[in-house]
Amino acid sequence: AMFESKRNKETRNAPWAFWSPDESAQSLYPLRMLFRAGGLQSWYQPIWDQRAKRVVGLEALARLVDEDGKVWGPGDFLGQLSEKDIFSLTEQMLRKAILDLQALEREGQVYWVSVNIDPQVLGTACIYAIKGIVDDFRVDPARITLEILENHDFIDRQIATDHLLDLKAMGFRLALDDIGSGYSSLLRLKELPVDKAKLDQGFVRCLEDRPQDLRFVQSVLGLTKGLHIDLVAEGVESDAIRDALMEMGVRYFQGYAIARPMPVPMLHEFLERSLQDDRDIPVSFLGLY
Ligand code: C2E
Ligand code: MG
Ligand code: MG
Ligand code: MG
Repeated sequence: AMFESKRNKETRNAPWAFWSPDESAQSLYPLRMLFRAGGLQSWYQPIWDQRAKRVVGLEALARLVDEDGKVWGPGDFLGQLSEKDIFSLTEQMLRKAILDLQALEREGQVYWVSVNIDPQVLGTACIYAIKGIVDDFRVDPARITLEILENHDFIDRQIATDHLLDLKAMGFRLALDDIGSGYSSLLRLKELPVDKAKLDQGFVRCLEDRPQDLRFVQSVLGLTKGLHIDLVAEGVESDAIRDALMEMGVRYFQGYAIARPMPVPMLHEFLERSLQDDRDIPVSFLGLY
C-alpha cells in the first residue's frame, strides 16, 4: 500500500513530455556531424536538498538538437563521438554550466552545478583546459561538482585518480556517479576523495515494485554517512519512492518526481516558480504546470 502506484496517468499528456529526447527520431546523418556542427545543448535537471528544503543543485546533461528541434540524449550519440569530440564536449558543457550558473546568480539565486566527466579524457590537456575555464569565468570551483563516470574496461585508474586529486585540490567537488553499478565500486569510493555519491538508479527505480530493496538503500546510506559522503538518490520517479527515501534520511533527490532535465528557458521558469512554493517537499513539475 505504501507504494501504491499513481504514476504516469496524468503525466502522459503533460506539456513537459515534449522536453524529452525523441525516441522515435531517426537522424539523416551521423549524430557526430550534428555535434560538430554545433548541435550541442546543455539541459539541466534540478537536485533537491531535503535539509535546505529547496532545489540546491543542477546536473548538466548533454543533448543534441537538430534544425527541426528533434532532441537526442547521450545514449544516442556518446558512442559516436571520438576522444577529441568528448574532450570538446566536456569543455563546452563546463563553459555553459558556468555561464548558466552565473545567469541564475544575477537573478539572485544560488546553486551548484554538476558536470559529467569521463575520466578517460582527463589528460593533462583537459586539466589545463578546465583550469583555464575556471580562471576565465572567475568562478569558485566549489560551486562545480564533477560527476565521475568510469564505465570503461580500459581506463587507467591510477592516472585518473591522480588527475581527480588535482581537481579536488583546485577546489572542485567530486561525485562518484552510479555507485553500486559495475564500475563504480566500493573500492573507488575508498580511493577517491568524493563529496557525494550518486546511487545507481537501479536501486531506486525498482523500489515501488520491490519495497524489500529499501534495506539495501538503507545499508548504502549507512555506509556513506559513516564516510561523511552525501548520498544523492537518482531515478526518483514517484512521490511514494521519494517519501520512503526521505523518511530513511536520504538528503539529496533527483528524478522525474521532482523534475525532468530541461532546456535553459524552462529551467529559469521552473526555479522561479519553485522559489515561490514553500512546501517542505520537492515541488513536482506536475504541481507547477
Ligand atoms: P547520469 O549522469 O547518471 O545522468 C542521469 C540520467 O538519468 C540522465 O539521462 C537523466 O535524464 C536520467 N534520469 C533522471 N531522473 C530520472 C528518472 O526519474 N527516471 C529515469 N528513468 N531516468 C532519469 P541522460 O540525460 O540520458 O544521460 C545518460 C547518461 O549520459 C548520464 O547518466 C551520463 O552518464 C551521460 N552524460 C550525460 N551528459 C554527459 C556529458 O556532458 N558528458 C559525459 N561524458 N557524459 C554525459
Ligand atoms: Mg551524472
Ligand atoms: Mg548517475
Ligand atoms: Mg544516473
